[in-house]
Parts: sequence; structure tokens; C-alpha cells
Amino acid sequence: MNHEPLRAVIARHGLSASKALGQNFILDRQLLARIAAIPGDLTGQTVYEVGPGPGGLTHALLDAGASVIAVERDRRCLPALAELQALFPGQLRVIEGDALEIDERVEVRHAAHIVANLPYNVGTALLIRWLAGPWPPWWASLTLMFQKEVAERIVAPVGGDHYGRLAIAAQWRATPKIALLVHRSSFTPPPKVASAVVHIIPAPAPEGVQHALLERLTAAAFGQRRKMLRQSLKGVPGALDALAGLGIDSQRRAEMLSVDEFVALARALS
Ligand code: SAM
Repeated sequence: MNHEPLRAVIARHGLSASKALGQNFILDRQLLARIAAIPGDLTGQTVYEVGPGPGGLTHALLDAGASVIAVERDRRCLPALAELQALFPGQLRVIEGDALEIDERVEVRHAAHIVANLPYNVGTALLIRWLAGPWPPWWASLTLMFQKEVAERIVAPVGGDHYGRLAIAAQWRATPKIALLVHRSSFTPPPKVASAVVHIIPAPAPEGVQHALLERLTAAAFGQRRKMLRQSLKGVPGALDALAGLGIDSQRRAEMLSVDEFVALARALS
């Protein structure tokens, strides 16, 4: 197996990091192997990777026995990825394109684990898309690198400053955990802030809840997070009656309402 230092791969292909494309590469193969191990045994599994860049994480996933479908926007990275295709024949498909634009369900036909050191500027948009689709989702698990602060918002418990729409979107029918904290110095070039890998496994969706209504409730409630619910939910038809029906005190604020309580409220309105 070829384990040429990634620094050499990058130099050979002239891959100077582009800030606009959110390029902060991880060169430490041990760290990459640890990230690739987070979803569990990948032997014979399909992985969808966004932003393979020079292919460090891709290589670790291939080493772990996965078949990888990778979408990369920067065509400068394609020759380095072609080298990986030659090393792992039939195991890697590379799609040149923008992950926000492509239709993943056309490209990825099997259940797949999604694993990505995401570009920070598109990370949250992709996460929200993956969390919002039909349930159970087409993906088996998500293993995604975020800025630590975003990771904390995803896993936030009720009552804290980090708790909000993203926590509820991630927790109402899935289980997110911070799997790994990653220091800024692990990236080349180092980003300004620390990072964390979040691991998310789908859970059964609560019955009788329309996703759009839950979204509407959390948007209204957290749009005015310091206000009492009786004020922030005034514009959502039926919400105040539903609060009363459920025995939820309308003087509470959004950040004090648990995920289960938001779900119960959405169910009452659905
Ligand atoms: N996976 C590599 C690693 O771990 O070192 C690179 C990670 S780097 C943080 C993000 C990668 O995503 C870059 O290679 C960048 O070109 C790519 N990228 C940025 N925006 C993208 C998009 N919209 N669609 C697909 N790839 C994108």
C-alpha cells in the first residue's frame, strides 16, 4: 500500500490551499485513520465523501475497505485522486462538481455512510439537507468535521446557549455525538478555530409529526429566543392553544423547551 506523505502528494500536484474553497487539509495519516474508523467497520460498505481534496481521508476510507464515491469541486485535485483510483481499482468513483448542486440519490444508489472533512462554508447547509430528507434516510451514518462551535450547537442539551434550531433538527430523529476534537494545528493551513468530528446515527422518527411544522415552530421560537413562548409563538396558528393543551407553561423560553416538548407541540399541530 502506498503511503507517500500527503505533503509530498500536495507538492507534486501543486495543490496550494484555496481559502475560497474552504481548503484546510489534514496530512496526518494516523488522525485520518481515526476519523475513518468512527463509522465502524467499513469493509464492503459504500461511503459518500464530500471534498476529498488531495485524498488523505479518501485513502484512509479505502484502506478501511470501503467503496468511496467522492465529489470534489476543485479540478486541480483530480490527478491526485486518479492516483488513488489506480491504487484501489474499482473502489473509488470521483465526481467533479459542487456537492450542493448534484443529486446525491442519482449518484449514490446504495445505503451509504457519509464521511467528510467538510468545507466550513457549505457544511451546515449539507447537514441540514441530510437531516431534512425522507426518513429513514438514505445514509446509514454521518461522520462530519465542523468548527467546534457548530459541533456544540448540533449536540447541545436543552437549556444552554448552544441549544437551538440546529440541535433540534439533529436530535429529534437522530442521535448526534462529538466523536473527536481536532486541534487547529492538525490542518494545513490551520483554520482560526478548533474543529470537531460529529457522528450522527438515524433514530426512528416520532410518529405523527410533520417536519415542516416542527421547523416552523423552532424558527419562530428561536427567532426570539429570549422572549416567552406566548410572545415568540404568537404568529404560529394554534401554537398557544397547543401549549395550553400540553400543559406547557407559555411563560417559558424556547431554550428551556426540550426536544421532546417541541416534538409534542409539532405533533399537536400536525
Ligand atoms: N478531505 C480533505 C482533507 O481531509 O484533507 C480536504 C478537506 S477540505 C476542508 C474541503 C474540501 O472540499 C476541499 O478539497 C474543497 O475543494 C472541497 N469543496 C469545497 N466546496 C465544495 C463543494 N461545494 N462541493 C464539493 N467539494 C467542495
